[in-house]
Amino acid sequence: MNGRQRILIVDDEKFNRLMLSELLLPDYEVFLAKNGEQAIICARATPQPDLILLDVIMPGMDGYEVLRRLREDERTCHIPVMFITGMGEADDETKGLDLGAVDYVLKPFRSAVVRARVRNHMSYIWQRKQLERDAFIDGLTGIPNRRRFDQALDTEWRRANRHKSLLSVAMIDIDYFKQYNDTYGHGAGDEALRQIAKAMVQIANRSGELVARYGGEEFVILLPDIEREEAVRIAERIRHSVEKLGLRHETSHAAPFVTISVGGVSAIPLVNASVTELLARADDQLYLAKQSGRNLVSWYD
Ligand code: GH3
Ligand code: MG
Ligand code: MG
Repeated sequence: MNGRQRILIVDDEKFNRLMLSELLLPDYEVFLAKNGEQAIICARATPQPDLILLDVIMPGMDGYEVLRRLREDERTCHIPVMFITGMGEADDETKGLDLGAVDYVLKPFRSAVVRARVRNHMSYIWQRKQLERDAFIDGLTGIPNRRRFDQALDTEWRRANRHKSLLSVAMIDIDYFKQYNDTYGHGAGDEALRQIAKAMVQIANRSGELVARYGGEEFVILLPDIEREEAVRIAERIRHSVEKLGLRHETSHAAPFVTISVGGVSAIPLVNASVTELLARADDQLYLAKQSGRNLVSWYD
């Protein structure tokens, strides 16, 4: 979450737009719109604003109507809106808040008040984003967690089903990792997990590809829309990249360094099949790779 937070200012009067942007530019990335139509377009554009300052009284579409339309659209319904209202429009304030605005700023603007109100909301918005992000990241390795994987798998599964395209999934398990912990300590085990995660992420990094920590010393990889042979090649490169880390492992029976076993499957999802079956097949292959000596890739035929 680098970069400045973005704010969209919507006001039909040029003077107000200038005043507000001058006030907020030192702290935020500012975008301007001079009517409701523009506001809605800007709110949908990427990157989206984190907060919208919205004038209530504008010719054409007024602020209430803009807010209503933003709320109706799933692309924009989550963006917080602060209303800009004139003095003596006290009823407007309550109406705006009733409609779901988070706050309001009064015209004529009092710089310190506007800044403070915007700052409060931005800080709350930032915290919420941080929490959302943390919920999908594994704390130890910093890569996506199982929840994130399940979500991505579901999305890719449905997409592959629509397009009748291949979806590949690989399950990965570190070989003799219990012995690694027993030999070098749990802290060293954690560090190995971090390095292995990092190495794997560097291989499967194309758009749509995802490496996640599935739990414990197990990882999982999602490879949408590539041929079976290509998926196997990527899995093989991942296995090799872990081997190349050369993490000494004297008590492993597979090699004198840390290795992984990989089990995978490539399939075109059928309407009545489930993601659970796909994962089970990958898991069967992982079991085979373990049985066949470890430090191996085994792929469903
Ligand atoms: P195999 O080759 O059959 O996979 O053997 P294994 O020893 O890797 O398998 P097993 O499932 O018996 O042991 C997994 C070990 O992974 C046990 C557990 O202590 C370790 N482990 C799981 N999560 C973590 C973790 O977050 N940190 C560390 N350091 N170790 C972990
Ligand atoms: Mg295991
Ligand atoms: Mg293991």
